[in-house]
Amino acid sequence: MTTENDHSSPQRRARKMAIQRLDSYRRAGVTHWPRALDSRAPVDLPAVNDQAVNETAVDGAKDMSAKIDPVAALDIIEQEVRQCERCGELAASRTQTVFGDGNPQARLCFLGEAPGRDEDRQGVPFVGRAGKLLNDIIQACTLQREDVYILNVIKCRPPENRNPAPEEAENCRGFLQRQLEIIKPEYICCLGTVAAQNLLDTKETIGRLRGQFHEYQGIKVVATYHPAYLLRNPSAKRQVWDDMQMLMRDMGISIPQ
Ligand code: URA
Repeated sequence: MTTENDHSSPQRRARKMAIQRLDSYRRAGVTHWPRALDSRAPVDLPAVNDQAVNETAVDGAKDMSAKIDPVAALDIIEQEVRQCERCGELAASRTQTVFGDGNPQARLCFLGEAPGRDEDRQGVPFVGRAGKLLNDIIQACTLQREDVYILNVIKCRPPENRNPAPEEAENCRGFLQRQLEIIKPEYICCLGTVAAQNLLDTKETIGRLRGQFHEYQGIKVVATYHPAYLLRNPSAKRQVWDDMQMLMRDMGISIPQ
């Protein structure tokens, strides 16, 4: 089941996202708003209704996100995700939503595709076999899982682990965008085709996307093979390690010999 909003114009969807974001800031305790970037006195945060959403408020939302406690802000979005029923099939079949895990101020985020069976049961991303391999990759980079933030394009398990449908990724896009706006990572590592194609808005294959830096809203992006693919094709680990070394060099992390 989808809502009528799925068929609305990009402008209406952008307006709806802006309203949701204003609502999040209000619930996180933000009551005042700086008037654009000039030095005049702050104005009251506008009431959350369609009329209140204007260009200034939407631009200002990005400035305000810098001042909000990231744990509290992520928590608000997580509550929204828990209640989300935009994708009827996923909402009906999930055990629970899987929001994200890790350091809310991480320099590096790993972006996967969607929760699998183990993640759906535990409510945490990448805890199954692919997750164990991801942990190994993170450790090989001399990092701990707690140093990074791990999240997925969609927050509910697709039945039979099928790929997320484009409408499902679209329904979840606002949540992902808001997570990234709050965490403000310097780097995102996309794990696999679905993550890379959705984040970078491209149809290019992972084989062509890997091995170079891309950009998403000022954040440096690397794309590499998904750990589940590595379980089936262990020889591709070499290329993933090359991608991780490229990332580590750029992050200023020494590469273990
Ligand atoms: N695969 C993903 O893409 N995400 C998870 O959370 C687990 C497996």
